[in-house]
Amino acid sequence: MIITIDGPAAAGKGTLAGKLAEKYKLAYFDTGMVYRAVGLEMVLDNKNINDESLAEEYASKLTFPKMMKLSKNPDFRSNVGGQAASVVSAHPKVRATLLKMQQDFAKNPVFADGNSARGAIYDGRDTGTVVCPNADIKFFITASPEVRAMRRFREFEAKGMQTTFEAVLEDMRIRDERDSKRATAPMKPADDAIIFDTSDLNIDEVFQKACKIIDSK
Ligand code: C5P
Repeated sequence: MIITIDGPAAAGKGTLAGKLAEKYKLAYFDTGMVYRAVGLEMVLDNKNINDESLAEEYASKLTFPKMMKLSKNPDFRSNVGGQAASVVSAHPKVRATLLKMQQDFAKNPVFADGNSARGAIYDGRDTGTVVCPNADIKFFITASPEVRAMRRFREFEAKGMQTTFEAVLEDMRIRDERDSKRATAPMKPADDAIIFDTSDLNIDEVFQKACKIIDSK
């Protein structure tokens, strides 16, 4: 079984994906990580993230172990990593290069410990439209920019990262606009996606709704 969860930053995709992966014993692929890894590696190497050919070169050398190593850097999840990911992910050549790695996971899904899984949950922006267009169930999770920015701000605060609500909101606005307006694989719900607005729902309510849909399949 393949389930995709797309939507803007901090809409609750990752939390929902993690809970569903645990309940249904599915492997989990957070596809934003591939773009964060490429973007952050270029930033750390002082390279120009707007250079599409160079970004493609970095993308072509990305492996799962390298991605996991980069994910330990504090900037991987910060605004720095998010903005760098958003810039490199708008390059069509980068998306094309990273597509195979994402699609191969569905053919042979594995848990973090390397054991095989009977299916996978993807989260990202285009997993239901481009990466896994034949997924069994597709969700699109959204929430108002203010609600999402407050959630992300609280996450950053809990990690002791220095920022303000206004800075997080502005970062989100810029990323949303770039992600939804780019020419290749813009963020949008698949035609057959089930859409949840989580502005007024807590994670358990979203989880229960998603489980009902999955169980009915
Ligand atoms: O989900 P996350 O915030 O980690 O994603 C970081 C960035 O990676 C997004 O803002 C988006 O630009 C890009 N991304 C994408 N397609 C995906 C997942 C993430 O373009 N499937």
